[in-house]
Amino acid sequence: MPEPLLDVEDLSVSYLTDTAEIGAVDRVTLTLQAGEFLGVVGESGCGKSTLLFAIAQLLSPPAEITSGRVVFRGQDLVRLSDSELRHVRWRDYSVVMQSAMNALNPMKSIGAQFKDTMRAHERISADAIRTRSAEVLHLVGIDDAHLESYPHQLSGGMRQRAMIAMALLFTPQLVIMDEPTSALDVVAQRSLMTQIKELQQQFGFAVIFVTHDMSVIAHYSDRVMVMYAGQVAEIGDTGSIFESPLHPYSRGLLDAFPSVRGPRRPLSGIPGSPPDLGRPPSGCRFHPRCSEAMAQCTTTEPPLYSVGDTQVRCLLYAEQLRDAV
Ligand code: SF4
Repeated sequence: MPEPLLDVEDLSVSYLTDTAEIGAVDRVTLTLQAGEFLGVVGESGCGKSTLLFAIAQLLSPPAEITSGRVVFRGQDLVRLSDSELRHVRWRDYSVVMQSAMNALNPMKSIGAQFKDTMRAHERISADAIRTRSAEVLHLVGIDDAHLESYPHQLSGGMRQRAMIAMALLFTPQLVIMDEPTSALDVVAQRSLMTQIKELQQQFGFAVIFVTHDMSVIAHYSDRVMVMYAGQVAEIGDTGSIFESPLHPYSRGLLDAFPSVRGPRRPLSGIPGSPPDLGRPPSGCRFHPRCSEAMAQCTTTEPPLYSVGDTQVRCLLYAEQLRDAV
């Protein structure tokens, strides 16, 4: 196996207030190979966006990385200074936010924002900036006349495409995406996802993609990471997890979505709601909502067990692995 492009080790993030410490991400470990598409899924508040911001080194107070490493191309991003990070971010990895309307500057044209981004990283002529800006806009299917447009003059789908174009200005090796399609209608969502996948295959960049939409994961991801209450609940190949999810929470998420390929079946939700991360449940964090909970689930925190190529945080597999020995 080649060296991973990204190696996140035991990464924890807390929101630190005067009175409490809320552990939003708890000892997350994951690797990403060059060109791989990893989908991160879970309910609102499970820590997936915080994890993404921590990987991209975009957290701001009161959120803070409390432990762990984010090794990108052999360099621990957590240890880099702001000026060192500025060289790497956008050039080697870039970020596409949930809402382009918030991420783009409403007072500047798209072209001016592309220019600022390029000038922040290299000395480059006005002609070269114009050529590259037009190129990346064409890549996402937008006419370069829109370099003169302001964000409010574009539709929601075009704004998201413009954000993606900006993320590709330097052809980075990793693009980190935080629910970039969630504000769009289903048709625009599908068209944008298809375009992201085509660009990824054309340029070979890796993607970490956060979503709460299992159908997006099913269609576009090579691997899936299911998060619950700030922790990895299950991580493995998309096909394995969709065909035979191991964690009761993964099964619940899948049961809450219409089947992508299989026969029609009634949808069921997961009872209860995610826990308060300031006071997570003892033992397995999912135990108050788990239909398969056992007595020890209330007291014993499960580690991640390897079952084939999948890793799963559930005590059911401690028993199965013990029985198999
Ligand atoms: Fe359910 Fe227990 Fe597994 Fe947690 S450890 S998911 S409570 S069976």
